[in-house]
Amino acid sequence: MNLNRRRILQLGLTAAAASVPSPLQAGESPGAAAAPPGNGADAEHVGVLNDTTLCIGCRECEAACNRRNHLPRTAAPFSDRDVLRTFRRPSATAFTVVNQFQGSPSPDQAALQQTYCKVQCMHCLNPSCVSACIVGAMTKAPDGSVVYNPTICLGCRYCQVACPFEVPAYEFDEPLVPRVRKCELCTDRAKGTGANPACAASCPTEALVFGRRADLVAMARERVTRRPDRYVDHIYGEHEVGGTSWMYLTGRPVQEVGLLPLPTTPPPERTEAIQHGIFKYGIIPVTFYGLLAGIMWVTHRKHPEDHPGIGEMSDHAPRASQDEEVRR
Ligand code: SF4
Ligand code: SF4
Ligand code: SF4
Repeated sequence: MNLNRRRILQLGLTAAAASVPSPLQAGESPGAAAAPPGNGADAEHVGVLNDTTLCIGCRECEAACNRRNHLPRTAAPFSDRDVLRTFRRPSATAFTVVNQFQGSPSPDQAALQQTYCKVQCMHCLNPSCVSACIVGAMTKAPDGSVVYNPTICLGCRYCQVACPFEVPAYEFDEPLVPRVRKCELCTDRAKGTGANPACAASCPTEALVFGRRADLVAMARERVTRRPDRYVDHIYGEHEVGGTSWMYLTGRPVQEVGLLPLPTTPPPERTEAIQHGIFKYGIIPVTFYGLLAGIMWVTHRKHPEDHPGIGEMSDHAPRASQDEEVRR
């Protein structure tokens, strides 16, 4: 299988070298074709609102995710809260993790003495992983979830590099068919069951609320307006990198609970604009042929005797000099 993937990659590179127009040259990646146009959320997009002020760090969401996705058993039980002391990132065997943060913005907010923050794929509205995937193994489903197709993945891990949230994990320990692993928003839910994602369904404090993204934004705004003493006036994910399907409410600045401060422009808007510009105005072929011409010119200047002009190659050159040339 790996061999096949490499072969496919080789064929792809050969084709690119032969200047066969690729989706990138046409100004779009295969994955991007499946993504919704523009930067806004579709009315059908679902998501999850994580109200971190309600999270108690019980790790029930981690356990539910592990069961739902048939991930390997963990060495310690999920009831073990010691792991919360170490900052963790999602991995190939844990699509979501909860981290604990000490401190409180004000002494009278006892509930915020400790803050817990669950992290997973954010299901970006304009996902960098989808834009970066050259074969369309990462796609955005109509409900907004970003899903992965291992059968066509090349294993290039461009998605890993592109993700601004550092989410996709790779099965480095898998010798035969390594996959990229991440939360897929429990997509089997979308195939008719209508059930909540496992993590949201298992949360005992309703810190995780699943629903239509537009409704979640309205709910978050209403909570912030009603309890300005409890919440920072910032719905994380409403606008970051163009918006995400997972969003957060916090009682402290987002950086203090491990959420990365990110710009509102989706990275694909910038990278695809560069790609489009390059291919639209033929910068690459013009540069390439210009380089070749430059090399030829320099070579010609260095060794003019190796490149005689047409007149110098005349059959009427003096016989004596031709004989002399033969003797040399
Ligand atoms: S968080 Fe990363 S992996 Fe998830 S959709 Fe966004 S870019 Fe893709
Ligand atoms: S939505 Fe599903 S896959 Fe994603 S973190 Fe929750 S349980 Fe895990
Ligand atoms: S299940 Fe809910 S309360 Fe428990 S750690 Fe996860 S998000 Fe927090």
